[in-house]
Amino acid sequence: MTDFKRMIQELHGGSHILHEPLLNKGTAFPENERDAFGLHGLLPPRVITIEEQKQRIIKNYNSKQNDLEKYIYLMGLHDRNETLFYRTVIDEIEEMMPIIYTPTVGEACQKFGYLFRRPRGLYVSYQDHGKIKAVLKNWQNKEVDVIVVTDGERILGLGDQGANGMGIPIGKLSLYTACAGIDPSQTLPIMLDVGTENQELLNDPNYLGVKHNRIRGEDYDDFIDEFMEAVKDVFPDALIQFEDFANRNASRLLRKYRHNYRMMNDDIQGTAAIGVAGILGSQKITGRKLEDEKLLFYGAGEAGIGIGDLYSHALSKQGIPIEQARERCWYVDSRGLVVKNRENVSDDKKPFAHDFIHLTDLTEIIREVKPTALIGVSGQTQTFTQEVIETMASLNDRPIIFALSNPTSKSECTAEQAYHWTNGKCVFASGSPFDPVIINGTTLIPGQGNNAYVFPGVGLGIVATKSTRVTDEMFLLAAKKLADSLSEADLKHDRIFPPLTTIRNVSLKIACAVALEAKREELTEIDFGEQAEEMIEKLMYTPEYQEYL
Ligand code: NAD
Repeated sequence: MTDFKRMIQELHGGSHILHEPLLNKGTAFPENERDAFGLHGLLPPRVITIEEQKQRIIKNYNSKQNDLEKYIYLMGLHDRNETLFYRTVIDEIEEMMPIIYTPTVGEACQKFGYLFRRPRGLYVSYQDHGKIKAVLKNWQNKEVDVIVVTDGERILGLGDQGANGMGIPIGKLSLYTACAGIDPSQTLPIMLDVGTENQELLNDPNYLGVKHNRIRGEDYDDFIDEFMEAVKDVFPDALIQFEDFANRNASRLLRKYRHNYRMMNDDIQGTAAIGVAGILGSQKITGRKLEDEKLLFYGAGEAGIGIGDLYSHALSKQGIPIEQARERCWYVDSRGLVVKNRENVSDDKKPFAHDFIHLTDLTEIIREVKPTALIGVSGQTQTFTQEVIETMASLNDRPIIFALSNPTSKSECTAEQAYHWTNGKCVFASGSPFDPVIINGTTLIPGQGNNAYVFPGVGLGIVATKSTRVTDEMFLLAAKKLADSLSEADLKHDRIFPPLTTIRNVSLKIACAVALEAKREELTEIDFGEQAEEMIEKLMYTPEYQEYL
């Protein structure tokens, strides 16, 4: 919990409180606090409630001309008054999540050098090599629960954004607070600035990061090693979430650190859980079982392999040998179907390379492999053509079609296309939101496979228990809890993820499952027992003004 009394003492009382976003109440400061902190005259005289403040925020927000303007406005509020920011975002989560996170945050990262107003989080650059611990110690609050860190090399679908990638850890941590009640005073966004290969940024006089090419190889690895040790030392309780590292580093660093640090990678593990949750949710509509599915992934990168690994793990938990489980996952990459005899099959794809002919045309692959589910994680727009989708529908009563590539412009197909081309038979989800579609008089609500359904709840479970590790089993449980949270009303609309308005409750359920699992795996001493839900809910931050006197 935020230690308001300590913070106020550190500010030596007085009007500085208006400039501390975690403490500021703006026009909602009551008379007695205005007296005590000497705020009379510094604020308009009428004291208003947080609800009234929120209404004014929404009015201003709605008057903005475009999404980037809305983002800038909300970030301004974040920097002035965090309680009001979170009150507004939580109450308006469906409208505001796409603004504070993907897709708008991508554009914000691209323009970060121009949008920069007030620093937030820590920048650790390669120049700090050898003294990273000292840099981390500059962060005032020593009680950090969650760190989100990026090196900016693969920002959403936008590639290398260098130090401008800082928008991502900031956005993700806002979601930790909004979706799972992680105390915002105990979150820390970190940008590891090791340079950039983005020539446009290197040439841009307004670019705020270090101006050299990316540090690679052993030097990079030593730098990240030093960072991890420094975090363990300075913030021993913190969960470290890796975010938007390039493919070449993401899986490697996850494998390297996951057994020695309290860390996770959302792009791999969070995506895996959301993919498996989508399949589990679909089965409530199709009536199929997990072992009845045959998955064809269009794209064999971090996201696709992550989902296939977790799906295979889920089947192996049911007693199916892991090799047989993997036989139910098929992959297509930029060179076509991933098969045994093909050249250029990387180590992470090898377990899924089956003894089969090498084909390249997607429709032909579908005809031969006969999948029940087609999962797009390729970043290639409009690749699920009418022919591809109609072929899926000719082979299955209820085909699963997931077009998970982000942002919307990269989606393999739209919701409207998938539903129309299958006459409403497919179960559809996408990475970015699509509007509902009416087919034969039924309103179908496309699922958005948003990782925000998963990582905040997993994080809350880890923070609540101080679990020393984050395991695959926890992500599988998160997927199951998410699918279990679907209501009858959701299923009537073929919805496979619940409405975002229920997300805090979903996160709580996930956190309880993670807490139990941490205990079962002997990763924590904390045992909430029967009271888990009540105890963890009490730990969740709610944006309400506290009385300071
Ligand atoms: P990645 O770069 O690691 O992998 C992309 C894969 O697509 C590679 O295997 C590549 O070979 C393959 N590919 C490229 N062109 C192809 C083509 N023409 N045909 C077939 N395959 C092709 O990227 P990633 O991290 O796996 O992410 C992939 C996509 O998934 C991105 O668009 C990302 O936004 C999206 N994603 C969505 C979610 C979500 O919805 N929750 C989560 C993570 C990633």
